[in-house]
Amino acid sequence: MNTQQCLQMLREIKDTAFATVDENGFPQIRMIDIMLTENKKLYFCTARGKDFYHQLMRDGHVAITAMNRNYQMIRVTGIAEKLSEQKYWIDYIFEENTSMNSVYPNESRYILEPFCIANAQIEFFDLGQTPIYRESFGIGNWNAAEKGFVITDSCIGCGKCKRNCPQQCITDGKPYSIEQNHCLHCGLCFEKCPANAIKKECVS
Ligand code: SF4
Ligand code: SF4
Repeated sequence: MNTQQCLQMLREIKDTAFATVDENGFPQIRMIDIMLTENKKLYFCTARGKDFYHQLMRDGHVAITAMNRNYQMIRVTGIAEKLSEQKYWIDYIFEENTSMNSVYPNESRYILEPFCIANAQIEFFDLGQTPIYRESFGIGNWNAAEKGFVITDSCIGCGKCKRNCPQQCITDGKPYSIEQNHCLHCGLCFEKCPANAIKKECVS
């Protein structure tokens, strides 16, 4: 996978769970269509009367997730920004998503405002293969998320983590190491290690 393939996968799934933060700091979620993806950016729109619009205008932090039939998931965490050329973008979105014409016929489409996500972290997670596969990316000014677990030099080589790992993604060595692309982030190795040699990466 690469960044554009992840974004394209979201576009093909189209209906995504889309979370914002409300005026009380609580998460709010709803289904939102991804309308376009171009140049490593995601585009969507919403109407000016909706709570979703006001939450975006107050605090652009958003999180999106979706899964396809093959149990492949994409998660995006980033910043949504309103686009200034409203008529251009809404007309373009309607050209690429013709079903929108039955929801917002004729001039009513201009109650919609276009938004773009250009700065974000993207995570691809494939539960449909064995072992599982994951990969992280950054777009715009954001770097890929550093999550999960790493084995430090305090490792004494006992092998307990490897024997307990449900994905068999720990390899021998000095120290032992985790194949990050196949790790569930379950934390079992962390809990089992007798030497406290496994460190959890910061959740960003
Ligand atoms: S359980 Fe801890 S000490 Fe033992 S091999 Fe794994 S990381 Fe090293
Ligand atoms: S977090 Fe879970 S899946 Fe990942 S290496 Fe540790 S035990 Fe294995």
